[in-house]
Amino acid sequence: MEHKREIQADIVIIGGGLIGCATACALARDSRFDRIVVLEKETEIGVHQSGRNSGVIHSGIFYSPGSQKAENCRVGRAKLINFCEEEGIDYDLCGKVIVATRESEIPILHEIHERGISNGVENHLLSAAQLREREPYATGLKALFVPSAGIVDFRSVCRRLAERVEDAGHDVIRGAEVQQINEGPEAISVETTDTRIIARIAVNCSGLYTDRIARLAGQYVDFQIIPFRGVYYELIPEARKYCRNLIYPVPDPAFPFLGIHFTRTLSGRIECGPNAVLAAGREAYELRNTSWSDMREILGFPGFRELARKHWRKGLLEMIRTISTREFVRALQHLIPVVQQKHVFRTRSGIRAQAVDSDGNLIEDFLIKESERMISVCNAPSPAATACLRIGEKIAERVRRRIG
Ligand SMILES: Cc1cc2nc3c(=O)[nH]c(=O)nc-3n(C[C@H](O)[C@H](O)[C@H](O)COP(=O)(O)OP(=O)(O)OC[C@H]3O[C@@H](n4cnc5c(N)ncnc54)[C@H](O)[C@@H]3O)c2cc1C
Repeated sequence: MEHKREIQADIVIIGGGLIGCATACALARDSRFDRIVVLEKETEIGVHQSGRNSGVIHSGIFYSPGSQKAENCRVGRAKLINFCEEEGIDYDLCGKVIVATRESEIPILHEIHERGISNGVENHLLSAAQLREREPYATGLKALFVPSAGIVDFRSVCRRLAERVEDAGHDVIRGAEVQQINEGPEAISVETTDTRIIARIAVNCSGLYTDRIARLAGQYVDFQIIPFRGVYYELIPEARKYCRNLIYPVPDPAFPFLGIHFTRTLSGRIECGPNAVLAAGREAYELRNTSWSDMREILGFPGFRELARKHWRKGLLEMIRTISTREFVRALQHLIPVVQQKHVFRTRSGIRAQAVDSDGNLIEDFLIKESERMISVCNAPSPAATACLRIGEKIAERVRRRIG
């Protein structure tokens, strides 16, 4: 029989992304816990969603007042900035503009303005001329300026969070893929190929795999993670002058996470994207990474088939934008008409873990499920990077309530 190293811990956290590391960090401040273990399957921290996002510190303007997203984003943003200050991590609160390019978008822009006021997010309506003063190459009928939005490198944030956990004497084990979980009355056992952690409680922060990990522990799972891939382009150095900071379109209320935007990075590059299409696997960052078993699982899920039936037109358009640079650029030209195909080149992609219910609805807010000894973060979509420190604290509160 194989012999596994056994570790006794208070808490085991599955997943070393921003949510797992922020949760561990919040728990590490509690001296009652002698040993916290984070298990990350990759050899590096934060290489999936947490290290492949747009790097935008969201202001919280878009979210329904009173929603978890709105509260987590507002409080989390402040905590993130404080953390960056303490750790000497670069960030820039450069502000963003949201641009209405069609008459039909103006009422939505006004709604966002009101929403921002209800959420306590400072924002200003701009005329077309005022927009040009801020972003000389952006063309719109009207715009909103949101000063509190900004940029940061979330991978650095994630790494530093993991280091804080280690500095406090706890373990972050890299290259440790969880393969088996047994929840018992007294403890929960979480196993990788060579290690067994026996803990009082486990927290599932496995991002693109939260449904699988929850199922592995015998939790009731009535949703599935559908991976949506987003492609990024970048402006060539000569065209960087076309965007000063962050330029966003007015979101379609039915698909708030869609909408290709321009983002300045801290190093002065300008990224454009991402779009969103079904990924051919949970980690299919390139088409050649297709996972047939993931595809079978996705296509066999009634919720996905219902989602595809309802939204196939939108899906097709996004797909075309993935294949055709010309179509991608056409979407960019709505915001900055001077951008041409010769000004962009394709760079990277990211994959969003989006929980979808069995009726084909995208679950928009954070979703957490609990059993006796496991807490699963089932849905942590954007702005979860901005809000990670607040979400981590909330999960830590749940852990304390369970442990008593
Ligand atoms: C394209 C894109 C753009 C985005 N832009 C923004 C933005 O600008 N601003 C913002 O606030 N938010 C943004 N988001 C959202 C944000 O990045 C995510 O919500 C956040 O990073 C989620 O963190 P996480 O820890 O839940 O997931 P992840 O970062 O995916 O971490 C999960 C971790 O679990 C590990 N894992 C999985 N299975 C196992 C296993 N069996 N054993 C051990 N480890 C395992 C994985 O390797 C991974 O490291 C964006 C997301 C994407 C994809």
